Amino acid sequence: MSMQVVIIVTGGIIILAILDFFLEPRVLRRILEKYPELQKIVDYFYREYNIKVCTLPRGIFTGALQDDEYEKIKKWLYALKQVIQYIPEEAKNYVNDITFSSSGRYQACASTRHIKVYLAPASGASGRSSRKYRTSSDKDKVHLKERRMFTWIHEFGHEWHRSKEGLAKNEEIKKNFDKAVTKYAKYMNYRENFADAFAMYVLMPDYLKNNFPQTYQWLKQNVYHGQEYDLEYPVPRSIRDDLTENY
Ligand SMILES: [Zn+2]
Repeated sequence: MSMQVVIIVTGGIIILAILDFFLEPRVLRRILEKYPELQKIVDYFYREYNIKVCTLPRGIFTGALQDDEYEKIKKWLYALKQVIQYIPEEAKNYVNDITFSSSGRYQACASTRHIKVYLAPASGASGRSSRKYRTSSDKDKVHLKERRMFTWIHEFGHEWHRSKEGLAKNEEIKKNFDKAVTKYAKYMNYRENFADAFAMYVLMPDYLKNNFPQTYQWLKQNVYHGQEYDLEYPVPRSIRDDLTENY
């Protein structure tokens, strides 16, 4: 199954949905004409992964995309490009589309067959239950490449998990992910813990293996088909600490 990636930069969900429906092809064409480098990345996704990329930046209202917005989109696309190399096939297959938005309370979220990623996320999450794990450094680190990759893989992890809902395996997931691997997961639930461990398996394999060997082995056998990762550029210490400190 092919995956569609939709990039939208707007102020709100209602506007976003309308633009998505009526203006997408025209807006995309305009952006790509102005930024040939972006066109190259879009072509790459289509050629390599059969992923369709659509852009709907804020510039629709002013007639031009600001340079910093363009840079953000480009950076996010490069991070996505790297992430897609690492996640298991079936996790990709359950995603129908990916939306980029300009504002939001979270870094990213996933609902059924849909992933939403914020280009300018708030400083940490501000949800009721998530306030407890917020750190002062979140704002600076959230745009780092490795942090973006972690978030992406985390959301694909939700998609993998969702694909197993209702199956006997779900009880098995509950059982194997009751020990929180990050402080975020500690204050949330086993679903968030699964998604964080799913991302950690790829980006922080040594940490997961050393501290949660059972979780690591379960993911290796049941999710990653025995594939193990030893990335050339592992997650920096600062991000690792950010995910796990005071835990
Ligand atoms: Zn999550």
